[in-house]
Amino acid sequence: MAIARVQSVDREEAHARDVLAAAHRIAAHDGLAEGTWNHFSLMLDSERMLITPADRHWALIDPDSLVLTAGDDDARERGLQFLIGYRIHRPLHEIRPAARCVLHAHPPYATALSLLDEPELIVASQMSVGFAGRIAYNDRYDLIGGAAGQGERIATALGDKDVLLLRGHGVMIVGAGVESAYLDLYTLELACRSQILAMSSGREVRPLGVIEVAELTASGPDSDDEARRHFAAMRMLVDGPRGRSTLNLTG
Ligand SMILES: [Zn+2]
Repeated sequence: MAIARVQSVDREEAHARDVLAAAHRIAAHDGLAEGTWNHFSLMLDSERMLITPADRHWALIDPDSLVLTAGDDDARERGLQFLIGYRIHRPLHEIRPAARCVLHAHPPYATALSLLDEPELIVASQMSVGFAGRIAYNDRYDLIGGAAGQGERIATALGDKDVLLLRGHGVMIVGAGVESAYLDLYTLELACRSQILAMSSGREVRPLGVIEVAELTASGPDSDDEARRHFAAMRMLVDGPRGRSTLNLTG
C-alpha cells in the first residue's frame, strides 16, 4: 500500500514537471519569454512548488530542469534571479491556494499596454471578451525585485482576479492548471496586440456593446477543454509529433 502511494506521488510530480516544462517551451516558441528570465510555477500540494530555473533558456527547459523549492535559504543560494521568482510566486500560491499555477512573463504587447498612462485592456475585440472583469491593475511600478513582501503586494493588487497587469513591467496570470493559465497568457497577448495596433492608428478604440459581449461570452467554447486542445496542439508543433514526454500517462 505504501509503495503504491509513493508511485502515485511520483507519477503526479512527473506529470506536473512534464506539463510545466512544456509550457516554457511553448512560451519561447510564442515569443512570450525573455531568455532565462520570468517564471512559471505549479504547486504539487500545499507545500511543494515547482518553478522555473534561472539558468536555462526556456526553449530548452525539460522536466528535470524545473526546481522543486525547499524554502527561503535554498532559493537564496540559487541566486537573485531565482530568488525574485520564488519570492513572488510562493506568497501568491499561499494567498490564492486554488491558483495552483502562476505564470509571470513580459509579453511584448501586454507589457507595452502596461506602460500607458491608462493601461486598461478595452473589451473591444473577441479575444478581449474573455478577460472582461478578470483583470486587476497595480497603480505603480514595484521596484523591489526579490525583496521580502513583493509577492504579498502583488497578491493584494491581484485580489480575486485572474490577471494582474504589472505597471511598466508585464503580467501575472493565475489559474487552476497549466493549460488554462497558458491559454490566458497567450490570448491576453493577442488581445493586447490588437489594442496596441488599433491605438497606433491614432483613432479611438470602440468598446463592444453589452449585448455583443454577452453573446460572445455565451457562444464561446468550453475554456478548459479548449485550453487542453490548444496546449496539446502547440506541444506537437514545438516538440514534434512524438514529443519530448517520456511519460506513459495511461500505464
Ligand atoms: Zn518580471
